[in-house]
Amino acid sequence: MSNKNNSQYILPNDQPVVSLEVKSAFEGLTEKEKLYAHYISKASWHGGLITLLQTSPESGPIFVFLHKFLSAQPPTEFKSIALNSGFSEDEITALFVYACGVFTNAGNYKGFGDTKFIPNIEKQRLEALLKLSPIWSELEPLWKQFKDSLYDLENGKSCLGYGPSGITTYLSHNCTPKDNEKVQNWLKSEKIECYNTRLFKTVSADNKTTYEIRLASEEKKLLKTHTEGDTTYQITCGDYSPLIGQVAKDLQQAIEYAANENEVNMLKAYISSFKTGSLDDHKLGSRYWIKDKGPAVESYIGFIETYRDPAGVRGEFEGFVAVVNRAMSAKFSTLVSNAEKFLTLLPWNKGFEKDKFLKPDFTSLDVLTFAGSGIPAGINIPNYDEIRQSEGFKNVSLGNVIPASYQSAVTPFLTAEDAELFQKWRVPAFELQVGLHELLGHGSGKLLRKELDGTFNFPSTLLDPLTGKPPSSFYEPGDTYDTKFGPLSSSYEECRAEAVGLYLSLEPNVLKIFGHEGEQADIVTYVNWLSLVWAGAGKGLELWEPGRGWLQAHAQARFVLARVLIQAGVASVTQPTETDLLVTLDRSAIKGAGRIAIGQFLLQLQVYKATGDLEKAQALYNHYAEVKEPWLSWRSIVLANKQARKMFVQVNTSVEENAVKLKYYDASLEGLVQSWVERFSEPQSFYKALLDLSKADANHF
Ligand code: ZN
Repeated sequence: MSNKNNSQYILPNDQPVVSLEVKSAFEGLTEKEKLYAHYISKASWHGGLITLLQTSPESGPIFVFLHKFLSAQPPTEFKSIALNSGFSEDEITALFVYACGVFTNAGNYKGFGDTKFIPNIEKQRLEALLKLSPIWSELEPLWKQFKDSLYDLENGKSCLGYGPSGITTYLSHNCTPKDNEKVQNWLKSEKIECYNTRLFKTVSADNKTTYEIRLASEEKKLLKTHTEGDTTYQITCGDYSPLIGQVAKDLQQAIEYAANENEVNMLKAYISSFKTGSLDDHKLGSRYWIKDKGPAVESYIGFIETYRDPAGVRGEFEGFVAVVNRAMSAKFSTLVSNAEKFLTLLPWNKGFEKDKFLKPDFTSLDVLTFAGSGIPAGINIPNYDEIRQSEGFKNVSLGNVIPASYQSAVTPFLTAEDAELFQKWRVPAFELQVGLHELLGHGSGKLLRKELDGTFNFPSTLLDPLTGKPPSSFYEPGDTYDTKFGPLSSSYEECRAEAVGLYLSLEPNVLKIFGHEGEQADIVTYVNWLSLVWAGAGKGLELWEPGRGWLQAHAQARFVLARVLIQAGVASVTQPTETDLLVTLDRSAIKGAGRIAIGQFLLQLQVYKATGDLEKAQALYNHYAEVKEPWLSWRSIVLANKQARKMFVQVNTSVEENAVKLKYYDASLEGLVQSWVERFSEPQSFYKALLDLSKADANHF
């Protein structure tokens, strides 16, 4: 498959593999918390097998095949046999990369981007390689079943979506957007939402249509039938029955180790939802979940994100467990308890600061387990609108995800010296910046407002530091920052938070809280500033598209700040060769010209935000965010240096004599394979479940 046209459909052999570090956070948990985390992890991994069935018709069988194949002998042993049998290192790597791709994307379509990926080795060669397995006779029938679909890139197979141009298993192949609309309208009249459902359409010989709306649940039964003319709607339950039933069992075991009543009630409601298919019970569980504030072990499980259903209403299964990093949290809380002192260092006067510091709802958690089609760096859930609007939601920041991706050492556009500093100090700098950004960034600054009773929340003597005159505008009753700033609001606020991070990372007393003093403190500040300039001016354009503009609020924010520093002569981006860029930062200028430039810009950001002056905010922000030459020409260099999405190796947990053990694996393809081989204690039962479930629905897709 060296055909160039297929390159977007393969995962490269140099695919970066990194490990999700969770040891120090996990060690900080009590035994009870560890057991709670263990059982919810099990539930997540078992439920994650459902995601395979939601991805493509062949994902379940491919997963079973690869899992059996790789469990038959250690990867290193297989590798040496294959090398001795005349296979090249590249061919063997291609097989491992493909297997790891299927494991980490929960199927043979990319979790981000939804395009299909096929093995980077020709079909005949792959088959010959697989035949070396000691259990080939057992595997062969399964291989024959799906080997053609493995490589099929014909129209309708290369990406997810409605047929005929795409493929989906959320709806049967004969469902059109019109069918979906019809069913959704009926469901709406029944007050039913689609998160945990799939839709299967059948048309009888006499042209009568039946829509089966199938709920995910252990129990199997017909819940309701309703006929209108030639159309029958049928609500059934029992989708993924053996797998979702196992999830309920695992969660049952976690109850004993829950930390509080909210967690107990939450688990009970989830269990009921997974047994019966009741989405209301899942909502109830989510209501308890949002009340469980700042838990040591955070989790969420169910049918959550709707990105991959072509209709955008059915949720993909996702389960995760994240644990509080107590050492990191201690630093963050010291930062918070000193907040009032640090806030006075910001470039605005007291009148533009809140009367009393309110700690933003932020805890950094490290992912222990994340099952699904990909791992985000943060999530804002639940997605149920009725709960979000009136009862709230949680913003879960997964602190070890981004540092994990720093392990693979490729950092283009830097001098060798900077790249080395980066490698060594990027994680500590990131921790510092995250703490400052989240707590003092988003937590700082006041909005000047007129209250309902006609009074103002600021003194009449207050002067705008930019003009020296009284503020020219303020928020009227009912105005919020989001309604006033609209589409600009999120990137503008991220930029303000990032700027606060840069600005306060110059303060020795802040650095000290994070354990950095003297020379080391200077290095961490430098790497923090350099990271931002590099992420903004060097990598940021990955997330900008002609005609569409900025795709991501943070990337835009960093680009803006990088431009501010370039304008101040503190940073620079140049093009030393046709295919390369060079990002530099003048280390000696950070504390002088750098501090002045960021301080002045931050002051403008804050004053325009505080006074609700959208016009000035827009003019300022869009000036720096605009992508014109030379950036337009440099974008192709940025894209050419874009790295493949990383694959994460996750730990396994097990219980021995009522104590939870963590097992680590190498950050390598072999380590990743081994982690999946050892993940399930009864693989035979889920092999059967995945194959049976795939077969039962095969004629629908
Ligand atoms: Zn932010």
